Amino acid sequence: MKDQDKLKEYKDKRDFEGNPEPEGKEKNPSEDEPIYVIQKHDASNLHYDLRLESEGVLKSWAVPKGPSMDPDEKRLAIPTEDHPIEYADFEGVIPEGHYGAGTVIVWDKGYFENTKEDKSFDESLKDGHSTIRIMGQKLKGKFALIRTGKGDNPRWLFFKMKGEEAESGSNITEEQPNSAKTGRSLEEVAEEEDPADIEKFG
Ligand code: MN
Repeated sequence: MKDQDKLKEYKDKRDFEGNPEPEGKEKNPSEDEPIYVIQKHDASNLHYDLRLESEGVLKSWAVPKGPSMDPDEKRLAIPTEDHPIEYADFEGVIPEGHYGAGTVIVWDKGYFENTKEDKSFDESLKDGHSTIRIMGQKLKGKFALIRTGKGDNPRWLFFKMKGEEAESGSNITEEQPNSAKTGRSLEEVAEEEDPADIEKFG
């Protein structure tokens, strides 16, 4: 499948006129370490968007409660459409009336590696059982992404695996609420990047 086709749903859902989100271009899979990012998204319901680079796009899941460093906290992760690679740096305000309207911050960013020895990350996702080592500014160590449901609307669980870096009782989303990219809170980004102001002042 061409990457352009992979981004069809992303593009179909959005109007890029007056919307600061990246339009997304076709991209060859990079040779660097694959990108890991979690964006905190203050849409109609506050949630966290986990994105992992695979085959030229960012595979994406919405995690309503956000991640945890506690292996006993297995967090529901709902698959969403593939996003373009450049979305990993997007921090700003999606204007009212647009898909996903609300403020987005880069809550955590870094790289990850596939820890399955016998298959690629993409293959492990197709099998519904991935394990990765995350090297973010906030999340570190081994995590699992496991598909639990069947059919058209599968559910996944995203959780810290026991061992290195695990921290029972930790509440990393409350302890470290702000952007890993700019240090700003959701409120500061909402104020500073109000699209109405940008229109007025360029
Ligand atoms: Mn979202």
